[in-house]
Amino acid sequence: MKWFKKVHHYLPPDFILERADDLCIRCKACVTQCSFDANFYDQKRNFIYTLQQNCVGCNRCVAYCPTEAIVVKNRPNPFREHSHWGAYYISGIKRRAYYGGTPVKSMGNDRPFPIYWDKLLLNASQVTNPSIDPLREPMELRTYIGRRPKYLKKGEALPPSIMLQTPIMIGAMSYGALSFNSVESIGRAVTMAGTFFNSGEGGLSRDHYKFSKHVIVQVASGRFGVHKEYLDIGSAIEIKIGQGAKPGIGGHLPGEKVSESISQARMIPKGTDALSPAPHHDIYSIEDLRQLIYALKEATRYSKPVIVKIAAVHNVAAIASGIARSGADAISIDGFKGGTGAAPEIIRNHVGIPIELALAAVDTRLRQEGIRNEVSIIASGGIRGSADAIKAIALGADAVYIGTAALITLGCTLCQQCHTGRCAWGITTQDPFLSKRVNPDIMSEHLYNLFNVWSLELKEIMGAMGVNSIESLRGNRLHLRGVGLSDRDLEILGVLPAGE
Ligand code: SF4
Ligand code: SF4
Repeated sequence: MKWFKKVHHYLPPDFILERADDLCIRCKACVTQCSFDANFYDQKRNFIYTLQQNCVGCNRCVAYCPTEAIVVKNRPNPFREHSHWGAYYISGIKRRAYYGGTPVKSMGNDRPFPIYWDKLLLNASQVTNPSIDPLREPMELRTYIGRRPKYLKKGEALPPSIMLQTPIMIGAMSYGALSFNSVESIGRAVTMAGTFFNSGEGGLSRDHYKFSKHVIVQVASGRFGVHKEYLDIGSAIEIKIGQGAKPGIGGHLPGEKVSESISQARMIPKGTDALSPAPHHDIYSIEDLRQLIYALKEATRYSKPVIVKIAAVHNVAAIASGIARSGADAISIDGFKGGTGAAPEIIRNHVGIPIELALAAVDTRLRQEGIRNEVSIIASGGIRGSADAIKAIALGADAVYIGTAALITLGCTLCQQCHTGRCAWGITTQDPFLSKRVNPDIMSEHLYNLFNVWSLELKEIMGAMGVNSIESLRGNRLHLRGVGLSDRDLEILGVLPAGE
């Protein structure tokens, strides 16, 4: 019973795992499936025990119990109720005092901030400007990411761009944060769907170079895995300045996740922490950013678009305006609900602004300055479905990146334990035993289905609006109405209240 040593009363468990003994057949599936050592089999007593303290609520055991004997519940507030001192704050103080460090979490901000997507509603055609039947009429979802110049000089070629068959891509998630099989599943799915995934800041395994026509390669402050061949492999290059889940700070891949294969992709020794600095040490101004953009363009013979990724923060419109003038072909804006493999909880939950407001502010500013067509805009940070995606496009995005939605497709249950490297679903782990749990043959099909269904839904919504091309919807906020929003929110979003 050595595990009982870990139990302490200072920090009550977050979850309660209840097992119906009359249903349990002692198959031990919950014991072998749990990667957090929460379930134990006692041979002498022929009994399955649970160490509640270790349960992270990943629900792997629930899914694999053949007799549906297990229920995992949120533990009711273990502290005395207090209107000011909620459980989140009390347990936050206790965790910091107990461990002597700031808590690290994964996935996105889970605090109950307003979700503006749910306060925006879409329009539909009635009587005049009739709706379009997407089953009978052609509907165009194809879009391009890249600069659209107002005019071309004689003999001048169009600037490089990438063509998306659907305006949905998979955003930056590095090999290292993700398992090999997760990247493999994502790469195969975007290839089938005619869209792109982003390598994230960890380089690319040579086994994934086959996705060359569907990968955007990222260059981040740590420059992990960045070399000439890597830049040549990508269809586009993204410079990561910021990330929605952790604006203003760098990245951290713990040494335990740096396997032999990861160390080769990142060009760092096996088992060492991969710490990317908060700033790019060669970028302190828009002019510096411009130099890096043109260095990357020069290195790749001006053959691919360069995207600059920023987190949605205060003054985002002015920042985006500077980026648009720096030679970038696209700006990717990541809202504060975006996911992460690891971030200090305090940053993840309190820094940044919602993507909806940031996106609208950027689109408005670039239009006012007459430079909207100089760059494409990619929005990300908590896109949950096709309705969010189409609202983002109506607010001004050319396309969206999804991350968490893709991981949910692979099996993720949002347990927020990616940083531990013990993902029970095999998605964000480098443990060879666990990572086998993602089967690329099956998961790539599921992800492809998601792209397909969301694309069909986009066509349905567009048809109802009487719009037959996604590009004509971009920034067309007359197709949106706000409900339950303040006048100031509506002004920033540039939408009318419902009823007007
Ligand atoms: S998976 Fe279900 S049936 Fe099997 S040992 Fe666990 S609780 Fe019992
Ligand atoms: S990827 Fe895995 S560890 Fe991360 S939140 Fe999802 S289920 Fe949990």
